[in-house]
Amino acid sequence: MGFAEIIGQQKSLTILRSALANGRLHHAYLFLGPEGVGKHTIAVAVAKAIHCRDLENDFCGGCVNCRRIADGNHPDVRVIEPLSGKKEISIAQIRELERELNFRSFTGNRKVAIIDPATLMNLSSQNALLKTLEEPPPDCLIILLAANGGALLPTLRSRCLRLSFAPLARADVALYLQSQLDMNGGDAAFVAALSMGSIGAALALDKDEWVEKRRIWSGMLGSLKTRDYQGAMIAAEALASNRDEALKFLKWTESWYRDLLVYEVTKDSDQLVNLDMQVEILRQSAASNVESSLRAMVQTGGAAARIQRNLNRRMVLEKFLFGVVGGR
Ligand SMILES: [Zn+2]
Repeated sequence: MGFAEIIGQQKSLTILRSALANGRLHHAYLFLGPEGVGKHTIAVAVAKAIHCRDLENDFCGGCVNCRRIADGNHPDVRVIEPLSGKKEISIAQIRELERELNFRSFTGNRKVAIIDPATLMNLSSQNALLKTLEEPPPDCLIILLAANGGALLPTLRSRCLRLSFAPLARADVALYLQSQLDMNGGDAAFVAALSMGSIGAALALDKDEWVEKRRIWSGMLGSLKTRDYQGAMIAAEALASNRDEALKFLKWTESWYRDLLVYEVTKDSDQLVNLDMQVEILRQSAASNVESSLRAMVQTGGAAARIQRNLNRRMVLEKFLFGVVGGR
């Protein structure tokens, strides 16, 4: 184990490793990037490298400190996330963290706090953390993880050194799946293409279930004719019955319209996400155009956000699909 085995994010890793080696770690970082691209893995790796007993500025994964950090019970390393059953990181959690950061370190090394995701801190939690960052306790390292910085107070963001975590290259995700999960090359390439650069998404994919689901969804989108509002209503009602399914559908639909768009613009199938569905992509892109594919792709994000805010799912999906059938 060690930094050398982490796949992708080499730019951020280089910055962090050189800060570690030079004793110049900042006291607060903001790791910005989509879910599942390594933010948490790298934050924990830095904590291990600070506390590892066997290696200097790197981590072995096997010593007592590395193992306690991996198990979440090292006294100098805290991961702050919503308590079970809660949707937010509360001000009480942040106050408790502040208290702990002010204690002397158990091991004599830096105390580390990882806040994941920082965007689940409500306003008062963020304000409490801001106070801590304005007068940081000695020898502490606070790492905030977030998919985007928009939900964080600008004053909080400006107190942190920002590192960007981009989606991983498709080849990197495939490499991870082959090396860590012993997946064969063909399956790894397939799942990697669908994962949109997120190892987290790749791990959550059940390949067989996905093949079937995508077949049904793409068939449904393909069969919606111009002005087929009746068909769109039926599809919306079916998709609305389950919140997670509705969100999965929209996320996948984004990749589908992205594929149509890519093919319409480049006539090149190498960059498709839904690689195995090339025939259907060619068929649907022939009946569509750049403008409507782009519009549909953009609208998936808005629809997903409304469902996340708990607006009526059937109405949100109807509006989205009406846009699709009306836009051709
Ligand atoms: Zn170690």
